[in-house]
Amino acid sequence: MDQDNKLKILFVSAELTPFAKTGGLADVAGSLPKSLVSMGYDVKIAVPRYQKIETKMKYIADFPIEIAARQTTCIVREGEIDFEYNKRDCKVLVYFIDNYHYFNRKDIYSYFDDADRFAFFCRAVLEMLPKINFKPDVIHCNDWHTGPLCMLLNEKYKEYSFYKDIKTLFTIHNLQYQGNFPKNALALFRLTDEIFVPEKVEFYGMFSFMKAGIVYCDIINTVSENYAKEIQTSQYGCKMDGLLKVRSKDLYGIVNGIDYDIFNPDTDRRLYKNYNIETLNNKKNNKYQLQKELQLPKNDVPIIGLVSRFAEQKGLNFIMDKIDEIIKNDLQLVLLGEGDDYYETGFTELAKKYPDKIAVSIGFNAPLAHRIYAASDFFLMPSRFEPCGLGQLISLRYGAIPIVRSTGGLAETVIDVEKDKERGNGFTYKDFTDEEMVKTINRAINYYNIRKEEWNELVKKAMTIDFSWDKSAKKYALLYEKLVEDKRIP
Ligand code: ADP
Repeated sequence: MDQDNKLKILFVSAELTPFAKTGGLADVAGSLPKSLVSMGYDVKIAVPRYQKIETKMKYIADFPIEIAARQTTCIVREGEIDFEYNKRDCKVLVYFIDNYHYFNRKDIYSYFDDADRFAFFCRAVLEMLPKINFKPDVIHCNDWHTGPLCMLLNEKYKEYSFYKDIKTLFTIHNLQYQGNFPKNALALFRLTDEIFVPEKVEFYGMFSFMKAGIVYCDIINTVSENYAKEIQTSQYGCKMDGLLKVRSKDLYGIVNGIDYDIFNPDTDRRLYKNYNIETLNNKKNNKYQLQKELQLPKNDVPIIGLVSRFAEQKGLNFIMDKIDEIIKNDLQLVLLGEGDDYYETGFTELAKKYPDKIAVSIGFNAPLAHRIYAASDFFLMPSRFEPCGLGQLISLRYGAIPIVRSTGGLAETVIDVEKDKERGNGFTYKDFTDEEMVKTINRAINYYNIRKEEWNELVKKAMTIDFSWDKSAKKYALLYEKLVEDKRIP
């Protein structure tokens, strides 16, 4: 792509690896822009500057922002994500949107004033653009936190020539989290009742930030082709299926990739011992060391790992309900996660009850997550729904064979090896029931115990399947190109 004709993209996200992460959104924000920059696109990222973000950054600008009747100051700081591509040093610039009142807090979300916080963020991002002298061709918004940006652009900013031609792509990473707030959230944006109608942002009497994104963006996509279809049904549509059907000709699905710089068992510094398909024996060291770290008996039984937000979506209650049946197998279960108290307490109790079989770590711990992927033989994802799922992609890369419920992106990326030997890379089941989950775990353990030679081949195959961003970033690039096509025709 020639330098001057480079498409300019602003990627806007509430989470960003390596700075602030609760789940897959952060991974995508931290890796897709890198791929796009490698392909020649001019991509910059905007993210709130949360308290915990400590990286080198420099002051760029400050300006006032009005939120409802309140005037507050936005400070923009510039940092970067460095990476190497084709032996060249590359970087993606990151604009940290700072406001002491809204973002100098311990966590990323779940505050009483989240509507105010992300209203501020959306406004500040738009206001920032002329100040940093960056006029993107496309603003790529992600999830509900950025929905109002699409709305503000269309309802307020497009009347100014700077913003007139900017297009928007809105990516749904998880339709369940919608950012629905009481009607008076309208006042945050100084917008009138006129937009509080079902055709625009009103959603069952609430102001929906997610709906604002879906309604006002130019193109929508979600993180797998399968989930793009599922969310147009009442089972998975979280009450937005009707709206999504109306916009179906603008709705695309692109499966996520993973960052091969970060997730690479051959170079990952967080592991006890690096390995690749030639040195698979070293994977065992990771198992023994993790057993020691988590005070499990050191032996060769298969480990089933699970690294997840502890949320209802993930189907974790089935594990709790059926734990006795699961551990009838000779195996160890290693769980890492945080979230709902119900699961945190329940799993902690189970680990106390079965210390030889179950280890549970509560909290967000990226290094431990990597060690679990490396030490595990299997990786369990019994999700009720899963827009894409990154856990299964990471586990494949580390040679931990996924056991998943076929839904959303899991159905697209994991194929049952007993149903399709050639393409198979895991164990899958369709019905969201505890019985099916247990049956599939038993089937997988049996395969591990009995089919030793095939097992080794399966692990090697899993580790070599390409789930890097290359293919998917190209698909995003096509969407950006499509958005600006009209503009380019003289
Ligand atoms: P979701 O986005 O629904 O949380 P994904 O499977 O798409 O699920 O992405 C989850 C990502 O977050 C993976 O990279 C996973 O390893 C990571 N992760 C989840 N929980 C934890 C945790 N407690 N500690 C460390 N990493 C975690």
